[in-house]
Amino acid sequence: MTTPKHFEEKGRFQMDISMKMGAEKKPFKILKPPKKAIVFMQQHIGKCNLPTVNEGEKVITGQKIGDAEGKMTVPVHSPITGVVEGIRKVYHPVLNCPDTAVIIRQEGEEGLMPLPSFDLNDRNEIIELTREAGIVGMGGAAFPTHVKLACKGVDTFIVNAKESDPNLVCDVRLMIEKPREVVSGIKLMAKALGARRIVFATRTHKGELPELEKIMKEGGIEVKRVRPSYSVGSEKLLVEELLGREVPSGTFPPYIGVVVNNISTAYALYKAAHLKEPVISRGMSFYSDKNGIENVWFRTGTMVGEVLGSLGYDIRKFDRLIIGSLMMGWSIPSSETPLLKYSAGLTALSPEYPKPYEKQLPCIRCGYCDSVCPVDIYPSLIMKEDKEKDVKALRRLKVMDCIECGLCSYVCPSHIRLTKHLWGGKRKAKRP
Ligand code: SF4
Ligand code: SF4
Repeated sequence: MTTPKHFEEKGRFQMDISMKMGAEKKPFKILKPPKKAIVFMQQHIGKCNLPTVNEGEKVITGQKIGDAEGKMTVPVHSPITGVVEGIRKVYHPVLNCPDTAVIIRQEGEEGLMPLPSFDLNDRNEIIELTREAGIVGMGGAAFPTHVKLACKGVDTFIVNAKESDPNLVCDVRLMIEKPREVVSGIKLMAKALGARRIVFATRTHKGELPELEKIMKEGGIEVKRVRPSYSVGSEKLLVEELLGREVPSGTFPPYIGVVVNNISTAYALYKAAHLKEPVISRGMSFYSDKNGIENVWFRTGTMVGEVLGSLGYDIRKFDRLIIGSLMMGWSIPSSETPLLKYSAGLTALSPEYPKPYEKQLPCIRCGYCDSVCPVDIYPSLIMKEDKEKDVKALRRLKVMDCIECGLCSYVCPSHIRLTKHLWGGKRKAKRP
């Protein structure tokens, strides 16, 4: 497989993605169900779920264990069969604070509590199934997928298989291992959306995924090869790149009649529809700077340390653990942190790996961060207003348009971690 060695960004600087190379050829290693699963109630954007089980209760794999009322919510399900050991606050890697989790101890025979049956020819039932299965944007966005599928007036459905992060290849691996299943999920999504046009956006070259491309052609799905640019993997920029239509600031693609869903999300819908399985497992790429990439299939709620142990790694050899990719992931304080349904990657770095933000220097106002921002906002000004907690200024600077790509931090000569201020600024600007 020919993978480019670099992604070219705005400002013509290049990001090294050589760590991807060849890793698409490595099959998923299917990990055993964990002895203990830690399942967060908050695994989606929207109101937090409440546990629907009690301490001491027996649960079966696939059983709903948390749910909430409201449009932007999706339930969570038990990834293993066992007993609820406790319901308590555990450090949440994305919220960066303790949050409610149901802790399940594996016990008894593994089984599956199947999802109810839904009519796959009925748009509303596909949408309902998507919610019941707990499906969110599996690329990392965690946006409830049923909300996207319920959008009206959609003319184009884009399947995002761009997989831009420099150390992730699990989406391409999924396309190699499960081409028919992936296309089946895409068609269900298109049916729910009523979209006339389906565009499959990929970074792969012609002939690299022969089986998938053949099935797509038969199904009338357009395959579009996207130029190798890291930031173009984000939703709004992908829409502009493929369709030449700009998504206005403060809006999302459905505003202009487009919906974008990730390829792993389409596969999750296939599993829900045809195997009656909610989101209890998924694929991800595990990257370590010493050993490269491995593709892993794991149960959600598995602790990071258990994943590393199953792969034969000595946890003590790593200095830093990141849930997600090198560019967009979240550092975690402990290997007991569990993986989420939207964890597409796990990154483990040795003590020798550079620590770019260890010695931050004062801002020299070079403007480099502003010049590379793919969405044309001003991270250097946002940093200042975040420090001053000026919510009006943060909104005026369009902090909510930030796609959290991390490029501003990546290029800063003073090694300032601007993304910390972008996240902080977004949180402040969101408050009523
Ligand atoms: S790149 Fe760094 S030093 Fe330059 S303006 Fe941005 S924050 Fe300041
Ligand atoms: S993280 Fe946000 S502000 Fe920084 S370059 Fe990316 S989009 Fe721009």
